Amino acid sequence: MISRLTVLGATGSIGQSTLDVVRRHPQRYRVFALSAATRVERMLADVLEFTPQFAVMTDPQSALALMERLPEDCPTQVLAGADALPMIASHADVDMVMAAIVGAAGLLPTLAAAEAGKRVLLANKESLVMAGPLFMDAIRRGGAALLPIDSEHNAIFQSLPAGYDGDARRFGVERILLTASGGPFRGRTHEQLHGITPAQAVAHPNWSMGQKISVDSATLMNKGLELIEACFLFHCTPDDVQVVVHPQSVIHSMVQYCDGSVIAQLGQPDMRTPIAYGMAWPERIDAGVKPLNLFDIARLDFTPPDEATFPCLRLARDAFIAGGTMPAVLNAANEIAVDAFLREQIPFTAIPTLIESVMAAHEARPLTSLQTVLDADSWARTQAAGRLGEFPMNTEKQV
Ligand code: NAD
Ligand code: MG
Repeated sequence: MISRLTVLGATGSIGQSTLDVVRRHPQRYRVFALSAATRVERMLADVLEFTPQFAVMTDPQSALALMERLPEDCPTQVLAGADALPMIASHADVDMVMAAIVGAAGLLPTLAAAEAGKRVLLANKESLVMAGPLFMDAIRRGGAALLPIDSEHNAIFQSLPAGYDGDARRFGVERILLTASGGPFRGRTHEQLHGITPAQAVAHPNWSMGQKISVDSATLMNKGLELIEACFLFHCTPDDVQVVVHPQSVIHSMVQYCDGSVIAQLGQPDMRTPIAYGMAWPERIDAGVKPLNLFDIARLDFTPPDEATFPCLRLARDAFIAGGTMPAVLNAANEIAVDAFLREQIPFTAIPTLIESVMAAHEARPLTSLQTVLDADSWARTQAAGRLGEFPMNTEKQV
């Protein structure tokens, strides 16, 4: 039977890898809808190749430009604006939704897919960080299947026993070992982070990814967001998760059991592996990824993370422990900080300081509704934006 797929964030790094897997299995998958913000050329090429029922451009000018470029006989309906996203994520004709919008903008459509009981392929970790308990509740209520696409969480999912429900004692699960590459600045001191440019920060040693997650990897906020993501997905606390820096990015994460066993998932650093796994689960399909050659790798290294130089991991742990609205505040302040860094408005080392100052000004409130999350998100954005001036660029010397 053919599965019909909506790809949210189709023009991005994960979106394009997803379409590559679809392209390899035309008998198995059909694209129902694609969404993007502004990349008209990329969207045009994908619409012509996959002829989805809907193409949503959240930027209205881009939607107009796409409409003008499409041939008259193209069956795809172009829609403009973010309001159309929940519709393509929850439509009755959709079986699975790839949630690959970056940042908080992914929350509402991903929730809509969960509530509608779709198979949710979750790349957009920010939506789970912001609204974890509400999100997991929506998955339960909707009867949705939640498949983690983040490579670490996909590896943990593969390494946990089938049917794992968070009852660690019954399943003999001792702890989760969440691996981290350490990013491009692994091994540097705080002083050596002065004067880092956006181009340096987005040049990840192992993975090719969108700009925002690349900066998150360089600050280790990505690992912080992933720690929170793991706690919600696998029903555990930060004490149950050990972050392990593993610079080769060959082991994608592990689970340690009470009998001394450690089960790991290994593979190339290529997101098509977890994407194909999520799409085909519980079966497996070709992902177009070349086989791992252990003789080429030869060695695997492991060290603890340097939380003094990279405080974002600690901030994320603190946010999860504070609970309620605090993870949403962490996430929103991080989005503003990363954006300001990419625009060269604040230095790299200001990112954690700015986030910490916004968190310190926030009193966590219980997550009673989606509105509580959205209010905390917009409060934190205003706070973070208002503090950007406290971190001028010229206080830093170039290294
Ligand atoms: P990207 O920047 O390459 O692509 C983002 C996509 O989202 C694009 O299609 C863009 O058009 C769309 N988009 C951006 N802003 C939007 C907005 N305001 N409204 C609607 N659409 C918007 O990002 P990416 O690297 O593909 O990452 C996507 C998500 O997957 C992120 O949450 C990231 O953390 C997660 N993720 C990515 C990787 C990876 O290898 N790239 C790995 C694990 C998890
Ligand atoms: Mg990851």
